[in-house]
Amino acid sequence: MILDKEHLRKNLDEVIWNIEQARISVSEHHIVKLVTVAKYTDVENIATLYELGQRAFGENQVQQLRERMAQLEDLPLEWHMIGRLQKNKINNLIDLRPALMQSLDSLDLAREMQKKLEAKESKMNCLLQINSAREETKAGVSPEEAIDTYLQIKEECPSITLKGVMTIGAHTDDTKAIQASFETTHSVFQSLEKEGATICSMGMSGDYELAIKCGSNLVRIGSALFK
Ligand SMILES: *Cc1c(COP(=O)(O)O)cnc(C)c1O
Repeated sequence: MILDKEHLRKNLDEVIWNIEQARISVSEHHIVKLVTVAKYTDVENIATLYELGQRAFGENQVQQLRERMAQLEDLPLEWHMIGRLQKNKINNLIDLRPALMQSLDSLDLAREMQKKLEAKESKMNCLLQINSAREETKAGVSPEEAIDTYLQIKEECPSITLKGVMTIGAHTDDTKAIQASFETTHSVFQSLEKEGATICSMGMSGDYELAIKCGSNLVRIGSALFK
């Protein structure tokens, strides 16, 4: 559905206001980046959000990412890959040169990406995805393995530039459990700051304020902007 500009402005203002309140409650120096997740919305709405000042957009499929980058190539947008990457799509993703690949979810995938990046003499900024609530259905490394895996990728995969961590909050209505999954991820992030980690990507439409209060500095928001 194509939403009109005033409607999108209202949604965006509301989300930015909420982010602002949450980040100020942490510290006035705590800066949070908003990445708009456009996967469920029409490409026209991305262009309108650009007019409203939004620059960073995320997609969860390589195919969709490619189509939208092509449709909007005249706009100076920053694109993020946030979904599960199949090995047979690695080369396609490399060719798109996303600003940040947020869903690097295993050492195995990192090794495959390294081979293909090296062959193309290319590099990619990535976040290590953490399965912070240890859910069967979710991708990512366990919190216990996260630090070792991060260091191993740094050592073995020189074409991958790790920038930090990403998680999807626990899939439950239990706020305490969601908070625990964010706190777990944030503590991994803090341990990795001395390794150069600067991005802690946590929080979606239903839980971004909580995520920010737990230390997130990048939120990925879709439905709250396109309702
Ligand atoms: C879809 C998606 C989001 C955004 O979800 P909303 O609840 O619509 O805000 C954020 N992160 C990832 C990884 C997603 O797949």
